[in-house]
Amino acid sequence: MICIFCAIVARDAESSIVYEDDAVLAFMDIRPITRGHLLVIPKRHAEGLAELDPADGGAMYRAARTIGAALRTTSDVDGINLLQADGADAGQEVFHAHLHVIPRRRGDGIGLSGASPTMPPRAVLDDAAAAVRALL
Ligand code: 5GP
Ligand code: ZN
Repeated sequence: MICIFCAIVARDAESSIVYEDDAVLAFMDIRPITRGHLLVIPKRHAEGLAELDPADGGAMYRAARTIGAALRTTSDVDGINLLQADGADAGQEVFHAHLHVIPRRRGDGIGLSGASPTMPPRAVLDDAAAAVRALL
């Protein structure tokens, strides 16, 4: 099946490009969550975190940092969210890894709906840390 983001990299599909280097391409999201919402993708296809070459991940973050920091120099942008959805249950819809760069404005009301964090006891956090350490 054709990957729409690979097609954008190949210029077989149109996009509004913000930035490009050897490893990554950044372009405007076609359905922006906020004004200026853009995506940074590795040029080399990788479905998600497990397949992503760490160097490509670094290049994505480097580009997102540069673009996000540049946006913060304008009076139009009060903050930035960087977000990667990995897996359909995390909201991933396009299975070519990508980092969202989402400009935020004071009071825009965007948030993770349904999240209501509590503060678990230290022992619970220690157990959680041990469980993740065991996977690494
Ligand atoms: P995900 O939910 O996978 O993290 O995000 C996929 C994003 O890709 C969505 O925000 C969606 O609007 C964007 N998108 C999907 N198809 C296209 C496309 O053809 N061109 C562009 N520029 N963005 C797309
Ligand atoms: Zn792809």
